Amino acid sequence: MKRILVTGGAGFIGSHLCERLLKDGHGGNDVICLDNFFTGSKNNVLHLLHNKHFELVRHDVTERYMAEVDEIYNLACPASPVHYQYNPIKTVKTSVMGAINMLGLAKRIKAKILQASTSEIYGDPTLHPQPESYWGNVNCNGIRSCYDEGKRCAETLFMDYHRQNGVRIKIIRIFNTYGPRMQPNDGRVISNFIIQALAGNDITIYGDGRQTRSFQYVDDLVEGMIRMMATPDDFIGPVNIGNPVEFTILELAEKIIEHTGSQSKIIHLSLPADDPKQRRPDISLARTALHGWQPTIPLNEGLCRTIDYFKSIL
Ligand code: NAD
Ligand code: UDP
Repeated sequence: MKRILVTGGAGFIGSHLCERLLKDGHGGNDVICLDNFFTGSKNNVLHLLHNKHFELVRHDVTERYMAEVDEIYNLACPASPVHYQYNPIKTVKTSVMGAINMLGLAKRIKAKILQASTSEIYGDPTLHPQPESYWGNVNCNGIRSCYDEGKRCAETLFMDYHRQNGVRIKIIRIFNTYGPRMQPNDGRVISNFIIQALAGNDITIYGDGRQTRSFQYVDDLVEGMIRMMATPDDFIGPVNIGNPVEFTILELAEKIIEHTGSQSKIIHLSLPADDPKQRRPDISLARTALHGWQPTIPLNEGLCRTIDYFKSIL
């Protein structure tokens, strides 16, 4: 039985990961879910609290934390632009000091540690689709920089702890992921559009809606994370984990209107600064290094599952 620490474990992705880790292994794993509940919630893991192999710890990753574990998944960090821009200084601290604290822990207890990095490493990309070798096009002092540069610095720290101290690291770059347990007030495009469509309110497209994203259902991501953690120690990434099927934001709005049967109208609001114009992962590396991993849940199916979830909580 492995002991596994998941920081940000009460968040959207973290809660799905904890659930899967408890099921995996022979007789399951011991999982410590660490969270400060900034954007996560106890409700996301309420169904796991009865499991004697699950522990929920209120803690902020900007402070040191000690535990004896075999593996660490470092997810703690707000991910939605609305939330990470709410207190940008704290966002930088969470990414950078959180990485230092968790890497220090991994070093001391000789644990393997995986960083939930992001496609935002590529900023507003000039290369399309984005392979891991692309260095990105990132504004270092704009409103998205607290997240983008915080995550870039975290990757630097992971690589330096690996080179300098031999820490066993794994870096994945997650592309837009959606599914049940996104917070209704999260501000990200899929949760916004579904909630607006279900309420019959206007669907708010920022800009002309021709910007693109590639949306991955959360179960596909969790499978990729677990496969990445299980790779040999000499494979550290970074590896893109995302769904390479690309849609414009306008196409997404139309799909959500169709699947909800909503009467909502589309309206256009101004585009936030530095909003990337296009984003699609090159997942060739993931396919080979993660033994044929690839997304299995198409957008239409994932949207229906997510719409059912929001119907059940609203
Ligand atoms: P989320 O906001 O639902 O989850 C983040 C979790 O981290 C929350 O539970 C929050 O309370 C917790 N947290 C935040 N600051 C913390 C701190 N200082 N100490 C302890 N806990 C803290 O977001 P998510 O979508 O589940 O994202 C999880 C991770 O995946 C993040 O690191 C994010 O950057 C990364 N990621 C997500 C996406 C995506 O599309 N969802 C894309 C790229 C990367
Ligand atoms: N977006 C939108 N309407 C919304 C929320 C977001 O048009 O109500 C757009 C946003 O400008 C961006 C895309 O949808 O171009 C994805 O936004 P999200 O915040 O989900 O993720 P990110 O920009 O970090 O990829």
